Amino acid sequence: MIIILKQNPPPAALGDLLAYLIENQIGVERVEGDRNTLLVLHGDSPALDPDRLLAFPVVEDVKRIGAPYRLASRKSHPHDTVISVGGATIGGGSLTLMAGPCSVESEHQLLTIARLVKESGAQLLRGGAFKPRSSPYSFSGMAEEGLRLLLKAKEETGLPVVSEIMDADQLPLFKDVDILQVGARNMQNYPLLRALGRQPKPVLLKRSVSATYEEFLMSAEYILAEGNPNVILCERGIRTFERYTRSTLDLSAVPVLHRLTHLPVIVDPSHASGRRYLIDPLSKGAVAAGADGLLIEVHHAPDKALCDGAQAITPNEFDRLSKKLFALHRFLEEE
Ligand code: PEP
Ligand code: MN
Repeated sequence: MIIILKQNPPPAALGDLLAYLIENQIGVERVEGDRNTLLVLHGDSPALDPDRLLAFPVVEDVKRIGAPYRLASRKSHPHDTVISVGGATIGGGSLTLMAGPCSVESEHQLLTIARLVKESGAQLLRGGAFKPRSSPYSFSGMAEEGLRLLLKAKEETGLPVVSEIMDADQLPLFKDVDILQVGARNMQNYPLLRALGRQPKPVLLKRSVSATYEEFLMSAEYILAEGNPNVILCERGIRTFERYTRSTLDLSAVPVLHRLTHLPVIVDPSHASGRRYLIDPLSKGAVAAGADGLLIEVHHAPDKALCDGAQAITPNEFDRLSKKLFALHRFLEEE
């Protein structure tokens, strides 16, 4: 980090700044410029808050050099993080499909879908038991019973399961769930992120509809900083002026995040588009952009789904799509 001082800073006020830096174990190298003096900071300067430094009257400006997300940054960890869970592998250039209904609705529904998506190559079963709905009057999931059914489907199919956790108090209920999903609405729920950082299961962190890449990575950093290295990033569309699709899929997120971080990046075309017919082209686009996996909503009777039926594809459609996605992935690997 570099601090640009105002011209002719009063010595006493400059002393206050230097004392603050010493207090924070930051080394200072002074560089005299033509007009201003620069202070080049050494030590754990990414931990400093630039706004705190700007509050000193002698500071003209503060420039960051490194990324504020130290642990998530590819500079700190050049090799891809690869996460293994229940026989599935996520990251490092493989293609992992997570599929299932938006919400668990019944044993029949979940087991039907779970068996079919497994046959079609899905490596993980995804189903919501606690659903964050925009309206308090909408179906909000089967809660504990939904988790029980997910574990039953896991036992029957052998597929590891992913489900959304909305509050740290729910952690004991999720003890046999393989991957804990943090929904877009909770991306900045810092107490939840910290709690998930203090337990060992992989966390699938969805990007908030309004988060920049840096904000997204800072949320991942909360989990990593508490000691859990297993974070999967999920691009699920952002809020733009376009109203035709549910969100706007930001495919640039895939190569950009791969450049900035070592964490796996997957894409959710279902919530990004909200439209069944877009799942095929957006999934192919995501694989072509280098996504490490996809999270796709599948329902055997989408017209009867209690949640997100308009974006669910049928098991047959998923079967056709997954064949194309694995073929595309193989083709790109051989290139
Ligand atoms: C979901 O995955 O079921 C969900 C609600 O998605 P998001 O958090 O991305 O809106
Ligand atoms: Mn959904």
